[in-house]
Amino acid sequence: MDHVRPPRPELESLIAYDARDVRAEVLLASNENPSNLPGELLEKLGERIRSMDFNRYPDPLASELRELIAEANGLEASNVLVGNGGDELISDLLLAWGGPGRVVVDLPPTFAMYGIDAAVTGTTLVSIPRREDFSIDGDALLNRLSGDDIDIVMIANPNNPTGTLAPETLLIDVLNATDALVLIDEAYFEFSRHTMRPHMSRHANLVILRTFSKAFSLAGLRAGYLLGHEDVIRELMKVRQPYSVNRFTQMAAAAVFRERPVFEAGISHLLRNRDMLIAGLGTMPEVEVFPSEANFVLFRVAHASAVWRDLLREFSVLVRDFSRTPGLEDCLRVTVGTEEEIQRFLAAMDEILARRHAAAHFGVHATAARHAGGRDRG
Ligand SMILES: *Cc1c(COP(=O)(O)O)cnc(C)c1O
Repeated sequence: MDHVRPPRPELESLIAYDARDVRAEVLLASNENPSNLPGELLEKLGERIRSMDFNRYPDPLASELRELIAEANGLEASNVLVGNGGDELISDLLLAWGGPGRVVVDLPPTFAMYGIDAAVTGTTLVSIPRREDFSIDGDALLNRLSGDDIDIVMIANPNNPTGTLAPETLLIDVLNATDALVLIDEAYFEFSRHTMRPHMSRHANLVILRTFSKAFSLAGLRAGYLLGHEDVIRELMKVRQPYSVNRFTQMAAAAVFRERPVFEAGISHLLRNRDMLIAGLGTMPEVEVFPSEANFVLFRVAHASAVWRDLLREFSVLVRDFSRTPGLEDCLRVTVGTEEEIQRFLAAMDEILARRHAAAHFGVHATAARHAGGRDRG
């Protein structure tokens, strides 16, 4: 055949997730930890890899890691599900609680994967926009939930890409208002230090998502986990890929989890760097900085896409451009990196903005010259 019939119609309006995997010297686009694993841990993993049975399928449920996570959270293993990154678990949630004829709520601007997985699974997406300051519109959300047709609610807390933390009282109101499955996505928990875990015993509809990709320096290995009621976890096991978390990732994530106190100093350090980053952006009159409870900062600057391009092309600094996302016009998001990386980003911003001032002045002359002389090149 010289052609292939089209795929499901849902895909027509979808654009593949573009993580902008662009090469740059300073990578501040994906909210990763700027540091690799501590050397001792790397050595330990290197040793263990030599005796690893690569020929054997991994443990489907990552039992060792699962039990460690359960114990640390005062739960049973049956309350924990480990996934190939948090992304896989979000997809599993929509496979099990979404689907054709079912409805998911998200609160944009927020994590793009909720909407993408909704489309992929044929789930109807109801978006309740955040307010101008990126806080959740509680009245609109609770009002919509009273309609009783919602099957699942996705709340990133703190929210990505805005950094906003929701009041706990509002989240409790949500859990009380509906029997829909409520995902509280705590991908940045280690930075915000806020969790809904204490409310699990009273709310069978609460699931909490965490990841090893951000604070724990394991974005490259893909590991995340859900905490939830055992009945919820049991349903998710029906839809998941049985061997999604490979043997090496299971071993490395368990080692990292065991050693997690080692990461505390680094996390505190990143929080101080975040203050430095916010203060630095705060000195630029052209920039509006939003508060953040995570390891990234959202800011608004005129002609953001041009700034994004100049940062990359001229300074080899990669940040994330959200300027085409509704509600985030002229917004860029920068990850909290090392001091050196932040200084380099701030210096680049200073130079770009300074040049823009100069160009604006020069622009007056250029326009005058054009009027006086030749033709406009358009
Ligand atoms: C990064 C992130 C995740 C999950 O990332 P993984 O690398 O797939 O574990 C989930 N939710 C939010 C809001 C995130 O920012």
